Amino acid sequence: MGDRSSIARARQNTLPKQQPQDNLFDTHPEVSLDFEIVRQAARQKYTRPFLILDTALVRGKVRRFRAAMPRVRPHYAVKANPDRRVLKVLAQEGCGFEIASIAELDLLLALGVPAAEVFYSNPVKSRESIAYAGAKGVEWFVVDSVDELRRVFETKSDARQYLRIATPNIGSDWPLSGKFGAGAADAREIVALAARLGADLAGVTFHVGSQCRNPENWRVALEKARSLFELMARAGLRPRLLNIGGGFPVRHVKPIPSIEVIGGVVNEGLKAFGEDVQVIAEPGRYLVSDAGYFVCRVLGTATRAGKRWMHWDAGLFGGVIESSEGLKYRIRTDRSGPDVPWTVGGPTCDSVDVVVRDEPLPSDLQERDFVYIRNAGAYTTAYASQFNGFPLPEVRVFESKS
Ligand SMILES: *Cc1c(COP(=O)(O)O)cnc(C)c1O
Repeated sequence: MGDRSSIARARQNTLPKQQPQDNLFDTHPEVSLDFEIVRQAARQKYTRPFLILDTALVRGKVRRFRAAMPRVRPHYAVKANPDRRVLKVLAQEGCGFEIASIAELDLLLALGVPAAEVFYSNPVKSRESIAYAGAKGVEWFVVDSVDELRRVFETKSDARQYLRIATPNIGSDWPLSGKFGAGAADAREIVALAARLGADLAGVTFHVGSQCRNPENWRVALEKARSLFELMARAGLRPRLLNIGGGFPVRHVKPIPSIEVIGGVVNEGLKAFGEDVQVIAEPGRYLVSDAGYFVCRVLGTATRAGKRWMHWDAGLFGGVIESSEGLKYRIRTDRSGPDVPWTVGGPTCDSVDVVVRDEPLPSDLQERDFVYIRNAGAYTTAYASQFNGFPLPEVRVFESKS
């Protein structure tokens, strides 16, 4: 999801301790999968790490998102969790989709999703991918450079293109703007080129950074998008799509602004856009994270140079990767001993495979104990590999009757 060194550099971009916006945090109760269901599932059968996910919670999140921002249609970012059963539920709830690759497109087409509801928001696409998606019926393609605008235009001259602009990612746990998004000067050049070529550059998008806990980012981004619309219209283009991207946060350990608070900021900003403008968003994490728990097990413990280590059977390469770059999960266990600092390694021999360092966890944790990671339905299984021969996590999907 991003170049890891730039993520590390941007890590300082966390919110200061006290902010005038503190009253925006935790204004609404957040959901989570019932912990007792998770514990029982682990006891019943355990062969390898697994994600357990309740699609009833996913449905609830879609509805809540739409209620908070009635003008904004969610297009789920497939990369967050590409499980077919999850995608199907999202389609049933009326979501469109956002893809990064044609493999993701094929997954959606196999489920019967109309290609016209799929937005291709990866700013770097091969000509083959653009042609394939275009032939299947995808209409909208993102660009953030003159090179990509040319690539899209030369491959599919009638493509509708939307311009990804750089916007602040301050206060996002997983900033993305170090990599993608046109700055003001580049944006002017892209708009001018589109007008000259006769390319249908018809919209603006941005991404405030994933797990964004700062509602100001949306306000600033909407203002920038508004200026871009004016610039495009002045150049003779017909801007008619506003795509406000993803980044909507879920509850882990740090407080978050609720979707209702973010919605308030977004709805206000949208007033500057005419009724004829189509508005979409690309939530990934928000729709699926808190529907699931990731469960793994302690392989063994060790003391090295006086430091307590435990190794789980899933680490960075097995799906628990976001904790290594600043996202703090709520980790639960079946032990009740006093917390002591533990450093947690994954099962692989790669020295980068460290999940957390000096994390307070119960002193009496032992080999074979289960570890339950709350709200881990996004960006876990999607990242997992079989590096070192460890199996991919299992994905257990069910729908509770609420
Ligand atoms: C990853 C991504 C998303 C989803 O981001 P979340 O933080 O999971 O909401 C949306 N749009 C684009 C272009 C992305 O790359």
